[in-house]
Amino acid sequence: IDFNKASFKDFENIPDLNAFERAEAFYEFTGYMESHGHMNYRFLTLGGCGPEMWVTSPFHKTPQKCVSLVSNDYLNFTQHPKVKAAAIEGIEKYGTGAGASPLIGGHHIYHQMLEEKISSFFGRSPDSAIIYTTGYTANSATILAMLKKEDVAIVDMAVHASVYEGCKETQLKMFPHNNLEMLERILKETKDKLTRMVIIDGVYSQDGDLARMEEIYDLTKRYGGFLMVDDAHGIGVLGKNGRGAIELCGMLDKVDVISGTLSKAFGHIGGFVVADPKMINFIKYQSRQQVFSSTSTPAAAGLLKAIDLIDEEPEWRRRLAENVAYFKKGLLSLGMDIGNTESPIIPVKIGDAHKTGDAARLLLEAGVYANAIVYPGVSRKNARIRTSLMATHTQEHLDLALNAFAYVDSKLGIAAA
Ligand code: PMP
Repeated sequence: IDFNKASFKDFENIPDLNAFERAEAFYEFTGYMESHGHMNYRFLTLGGCGPEMWVTSPFHKTPQKCVSLVSNDYLNFTQHPKVKAAAIEGIEKYGTGAGASPLIGGHHIYHQMLEEKISSFFGRSPDSAIIYTTGYTANSATILAMLKKEDVAIVDMAVHASVYEGCKETQLKMFPHNNLEMLERILKETKDKLTRMVIIDGVYSQDGDLARMEEIYDLTKRYGGFLMVDDAHGIGVLGKNGRGAIELCGMLDKVDVISGTLSKAFGHIGGFVVADPKMINFIKYQSRQQVFSSTSTPAAAGLLKAIDLIDEEPEWRRRLAENVAYFKKGLLSLGMDIGNTESPIIPVKIGDAHKTGDAARLLLEAGVYANAIVYPGVSRKNARIRTSLMATHTQEHLDLALNAFAYVDSKLGIAAA
């Protein structure tokens, strides 16, 4: 394997090597990448989430204070005093663990309250939501429970990895991102399947762009299908009332299955699914993670407050939107290609993976921590620096980041031609 051209994916399965030999080959590769300054998964951040982070990395042995452009903690609720107080109260009252999986004694009062709060947040009856320990399992476990081999999942190619994980026991068809003609073709071709579940994201995690949700819904219904939307990045952030891309598209009472995370705008960890109560009941008994895996800790009580704050303190959402507008304008004036983002995820598209790795390193030198996203996170020629903004970034933070991008451009030429 040519290390210079290789990606993580090339090491998933190497002919004739056993699991430990594969690990050894991969170890050599990561060492090589690190020595070339391209490895970012060994970054260590010290302290909590925030607009600034102390970072140590393979090329900065001593901690360096950086402007952070890596967090999904969009509203910075991980640090909100009221959220922290509620989480601490939860622990004081109920201890540090749930003690069992939900079905066999681990479903505590704070879990019940959370499911009811999430249901009402989406304007549904109290038994319309189920929580999971991560957003990843909310997607994968729910889809695994819902769709069997007689069914078909029809997914936008750009959906999150957790959706693909969930499709392992059903038939999988993919349509190019937001491509309605191809979606229609697949809906026609799959008429004989028992369930046709179209699965899309509300906000796409690498480009920050939105699903063509209304048109996809109409098409899906015209052909008798169902629509599931993973709005992990939209909920709490987008829409007049922070109900997400689904609200923005006027689809709150239409989407058949909504999934989301508690790990981004709500500042904690976990995921959830909202659907018809009978489907939720089915998932509660049929999804293996609900039966065989322990549930979230009493610190989840912090989420009860975080969800209330979406209504009580809309100024966080407003500040985030102002930051997004300012930063996008700044990047565009530097000539960067930021694609079609309509969310706090703002990609700076570069193309070449190694140049993107170099750009991330130079940004760090200039005091900005942002991730290089390369294959298989995105397609091979589509590498980019992915930035995400928070409500608590100040204009000084954003100016520093914009200057850093200008510096990188002067060194590497990353602006669009
Ligand atoms: N869906 C999308 C679109 C995501 O981007 C992510 C997280 N990156 C998830 C689901 C999984 O959420 P969690 O981090 O809570 O597991």
